[in-house]
Amino acid sequence: MKLDYRRYDLKLLHPFTISRSSRDTVPVVIIEFEKDGITAFGEASPNARYGETADSVQDFLSRIDVTNLSDPFQLERIGDYLDFLAPGNSSAKCAVDIAMHDWICKKRDIPLYRFYGADRDKAPVSSFTVGIDEPDMIVRKVEEASNYPVLKIKLGSANDEEIIKAVRSVTNKPLRVDANEGWKSKEDALASIHWLSTQNVEFVEQPMPAGQIDDARWLRGKVKLPIIADEALSQHSVAELSTAYDGINIKLQKNGGLLKARKLVREARETGMKVMLGCMIETSVGIAAAAHFSPLVDWADLDGNRLISNDPFTGVPNEDGELVLSDEPGLGVRPL
Ligand code: MG
Repeated sequence: MKLDYRRYDLKLLHPFTISRSSRDTVPVVIIEFEKDGITAFGEASPNARYGETADSVQDFLSRIDVTNLSDPFQLERIGDYLDFLAPGNSSAKCAVDIAMHDWICKKRDIPLYRFYGADRDKAPVSSFTVGIDEPDMIVRKVEEASNYPVLKIKLGSANDEEIIKAVRSVTNKPLRVDANEGWKSKEDALASIHWLSTQNVEFVEQPMPAGQIDDARWLRGKVKLPIIADEALSQHSVAELSTAYDGINIKLQKNGGLLKARKLVREARETGMKVMLGCMIETSVGIAAAAHFSPLVDWADLDGNRLISNDPFTGVPNEDGELVLSDEPGLGVRPL
């Protein structure tokens, strides 16, 4: 039995800009877990917003005593062990959680979606994300994404209206908007959402900073578009969020993996909230794990592997927005 891991730098097809940052490469950490002749894969895509780096992921993984992973079926106990090692480190924990799931499913010879009793025909379509850019580049990106039925547009910039007008100069397809905490006051958020509600927008993600839950509650009382909590899901409980938002955006990397995501879906359903499943910039390992889970949610945004040029795995689980759930055991992906 062994646990190996290595850093891998993902190259973005276009520099990826959101309200708080811009990047052209993204380091991830790929893990390989081997036991009983079965090799399983996992992935961490650390994000500075949640206090992680590739170094912190590797540091966390180096502290794991692999004998604690000797029975991968003990997902709860393994999760408790990882939480005992250190708080936070959600993407590092996610990598281990994905690898345990891949191993269990390969051992049982079932695809991952079957492990969660999911109906593969109910996988929602995935949106394709367009980062913040100048209008001419927005037009080019939207044209490149012409096969995708739904686009997710990053806003929270100084030229939000220009961006939407550029999108609307080439397509009328439905849009989802993500402000990534970029509107700093409730009045700014209200004005933006009022205008967006005339632009065939389905919902708005994280309009204001995660801590401004009272402002989010005020905002929700004044707008018709659903408001979805993303960054806020790392610092408030689902019960708290249900008083101020219409839904939550779960990400395996942000929320610590599949087992924790399953619990969040249950909590959200109990409080009547919608559930979106998002991603970071990730390889097909992380995207496959989320794709197999996606029949359990309402909306999917699982395009991280379509934004990069050097995915080191085959078995692409996202074909122009259609999430293709492999019937091969486990994640259904293979290293190139
Ligand atoms: Mg978001």
